[in-house]
Formats: sequence, C-alpha cells, structure tokens
Amino acid sequence: MKAARFDYMRPRSVAEAVAALEHNDDAVLLGGGQSLMPLLVGRRLRPSWVVDLNGLESSLGRVAIEQSDGGSGVIRIGALVRHSQLEHHEVVKEVLPVLSDAASCVGYPAVRNRGTVGGSVAFCHPAAELPAALAAVGATVMVRGSRGQREMPVASIARAPFSNTLAQDEVVVEVSVPLDMSGEKAGVPAGEHRTGSAWFEFSRGRSEFPLAGIAAVIWLDGNGRCVGARAVAGGVGPAPVDLTECLGDLVGNSWLGDRLAEALAKHVERRIDPPSDLSGSARDRSEVAGLLLRRALRAAWDRARAGASS
Ligand SMILES: Cc1cc2nc3c(=O)[nH]c(=O)nc-3n(C[C@H](O)[C@H](O)[C@H](O)COP(=O)(O)OP(=O)(O)OC[C@H]3O[C@@H](n4cnc5c(N)ncnc54)[C@H](O)[C@@H]3O)c2cc1C
Repeated sequence: MKAARFDYMRPRSVAEAVAALEHNDDAVLLGGGQSLMPLLVGRRLRPSWVVDLNGLESSLGRVAIEQSDGGSGVIRIGALVRHSQLEHHEVVKEVLPVLSDAASCVGYPAVRNRGTVGGSVAFCHPAAELPAALAAVGATVMVRGSRGQREMPVASIARAPFSNTLAQDEVVVEVSVPLDMSGEKAGVPAGEHRTGSAWFEFSRGRSEFPLAGIAAVIWLDGNGRCVGARAVAGGVGPAPVDLTECLGDLVGNSWLGDRLAEALAKHVERRIDPPSDLSGSARDRSEVAGLLLRRALRAAWDRARAGASS
C-alpha cells in the first residue's frame, strides 16, 4: 500500500515548523520516520501536511554538555539526536550509561540510525526504552509552540499509549538531563555521591519492543552505602511506571543481597498492573519485571562503586 496524498514541507527553523502546525490542524511532524512512515504507508494516518524536521539537524541534532561553575551540569540532547548517537556518545556512556544501554536496545542498527529522541518521547509507545530511561534520570523535555516555550518532566508527556500531552502546534526541541541525575524527586541528601545507572530488558526478538524493561539509578555515599535509588519500568503499563517508592529498603545498605532483592522484586510485582497481550501475559511481565529490577539495580550499583563522584 502507498501513503495517501499529502503536502510536504521542510522548515528552516523551529518557528517555521510551529507555524506550519498552527495553520494546518492535521499536519504531522516527521522525525526519524521509524514509527510515522509505517502509519502513513498503512493509511492509518492521512495528514494533509508532513512537516519534515530533518533540515534542522545542525540545531536539533546535537548532544551538548554544559558544566556550571558549582560543579553541577546538564546534558542537552536535541530532538533530532538519533538513537545510535546516544548509544555511542562517549560522555553519555560514561555519565548516563542507562541512556546508552537503552538506546542500544532499540530495534536494529538501521532503526537506531534514523529514529530520534524527540520522536521516541513524542510517540509514547508504552514499551519504548528511552521514555522510561529518561524518566529514571530526571530528564525534562523542552517544547516550543505558538504560545512560546515550556519545559516539563519527561514523565508528564504521555497522556495514554501513543498519545501525548503536546498541543497540535508544539514541537519537542530538546531533552535535558542533570549530570547528577537528581531530577526533582530524587530525595538524595546533599553531599558528594557516586552514581551509577543501568537499563535491562527482555524482548522476544532482537528487533522487537521489549516485553518489559527497567531503568535503575543508584546513589552511594563515600562509604559505599546506598543513599538513594530510583527505578522506572517500561512495558508494564500504559506509560513508564515509576517504581521508586518500592526501593526505600535499599537505603543504608552496602550491597543488594539476595533476600533484599527478592523482597524488592515482590514489592514491584504487587505495585504494577501490566497488560496481557500476544507478546506475553500480565504474569509473565510481572515476573520478568522483578527479575530485571534485580539485574538493573546490581549493574547500577557496580557502576556507582566504580564511577566518578558528583
Ligand atoms: C522494525 C522497528 C523496530 C523498532 N523497535 C523499537 C524498539 O525496540 N524500541 C523503541 O523504542 N522503538 C522502536 N522502534 C521505533 C523507533 O524507535 C522510532 O524511532 C521511535 O518510536 C519514533 O522516533 P522517530 O524519530 O522515528 O519518529 P517518527 O516516526 O518520525 O515520529 C513518531 C511520532 O512522533 C512525532 N514527532 C517526531 N518528532 C517530533 C518532535 N520533535 N516533536 C514532536 N513530535 C514529534 C511524529 O509526528 C509522530 O507522531 C522500532 C521501529 C521499527 C521500524
């Protein structure tokens, strides 16, 4: 099947893209096209205009690190940054390995070379890796529309599966992540910490969306004791599910022993209410989520022990 007829534009600025969306109610943005093109070709979407962001690569296609004088800093990830850029970016791999882990699990190389961070965040696939991993590191999303610019936590962009909270004329321009991964709700006491993060997932095939995936972040004090932990799951609900409230018992521990790991996994299994579908039953997803949680927490812990302080 071929896509229904549409008009095409390639704006030279975000402002031009916003204007195109504002004046055409059913115009859609094109990022990497990895989710949009199948919808167009299958005629499940019949927009009058396709507004192609790929002419804005020089402004929206970069990863920038901003370090402030006080030692804190932020990583700014442009909306057109491809999954493969995140996967291979040296600073991201070192400081936010949960993001490079997660990006490396998306589809296969051709998908990762085209698919974008902005598209992944806006598309709101409930099992997508990046929205869950970005939520775990306290990321915020910058969007621009006809009424100006606004910033929101990445977790508040999903309204429902495949539906976001953006206005029709809003464009995701950037995702930013604090270098200490603190975000707003980390609850980690002030002081010097070591942080580590990791993503683990289970999928039926290498190029498939995962049945479930877990992003974990661990903060350790100078004595190697856990002072904070955060975890977010993908694939187990209509949007990424924050599991941080299940991790309170980790604080004060110097390692995640088997008994504690078992208790946390059970806590998570009670907290989530996953769907059943052709890829897996709710019970499969619960058990897998518990198992992945242990692996992701342990990997994050190992990285925190080996890592730099923040
Ligand atoms: C074979 C295959 C396997 C895949 N496997 C996975 C997987 O395992 N995990 C995974 O997460 N994804 C997977 N994907 C999807 C892929 O990661 C997409 O890249 C991603 O979902 C959307 O990003 P995109 O840049 O391609 O967006 P597009 O397809 O261009 O757009 C998707 C939606 O987002 C909107 N949009 C795009 N950019 C913006 C923006 N800057 N601001 C606002 N709205 C925007 C579009 O209008 C559209 O509605 C797979 C795709 C394929 C084809």
